[in-house]
Amino acid sequence: MDRLTSASLDWQRLIKKGLLWVFDYDGTLVPIIRNPYKSQMRPRFFRFMQKFVRKYPAAVLSGRELKNIASRVKGLSFRYVVGNHGSEWKTKKMRAGRFARATERARKIWEQIPHTQGIELENKKLSLTIHYRNCADPSLILRKLPSLFSDGYRLVGGKKCLNILPADAPSKGDAVRRMRKLSGLSRVIYFGDDETDEDVFGLESWLIGVRIGPIKRSQARYTLQNSIELEKLLRAVVSKDC
Ligand SMILES: [Mg+2]
Repeated sequence: MDRLTSASLDWQRLIKKGLLWVFDYDGTLVPIIRNPYKSQMRPRFFRFMQKFVRKYPAAVLSGRELKNIASRVKGLSFRYVVGNHGSEWKTKKMRAGRFARATERARKIWEQIPHTQGIELENKKLSLTIHYRNCADPSLILRKLPSLFSDGYRLVGGKKCLNILPADAPSKGDAVRRMRKLSGLSRVIYFGDDETDEDVFGLESWLIGVRIGPIKRSQARYTLQNSIELEKLLRAVVSKDC
């Protein structure tokens, strides 16, 4: 992976030909903090992004429930705001019903497991997230989960969490493919920091993948250290494009 800088790509040409900017939220637009319910964009970055998303077509794609992510990016006029790792769109209520039923079944399976101190279930209606950042030893429960959810579910690791998704629910990769189709733009640049973002980085050659964080292995072509570097890059690109 190469460090992405304002000199890595011909930004003006990419923008002129049609570039959709897609951002993950946690670990990308905001740093990962101990309590995910409190995470917010830095005010200066937020004000910059207000201008950025007015000028360039952009979207946010998060593992959070749609209403949760929508409230966090309120005031930013993203073209698409998509939650639940790609399965929760404002306009796709019908198909989501099937995933909601599968998630409810998963929740019932989870309820039968004896409670472990420090482990927290987040029910996002179309997927579940098991948070274990406050658990001293989550290894026992993490070993149990693959067999409990082997039938009809996909387990995807995250930062001190594990996501349980209906196996046939759209992935982040499917969501980005759909955004590209809806927007009619030729190229997509995607910024993400987590395992679920690898579904996007593995897409076709029209995708420019940027993995955020100190990681050695990824399908992404480029890397950035953190959301501060991301802000610096976006500012540099904007100043080049003026
Ligand atoms: Mg993330």
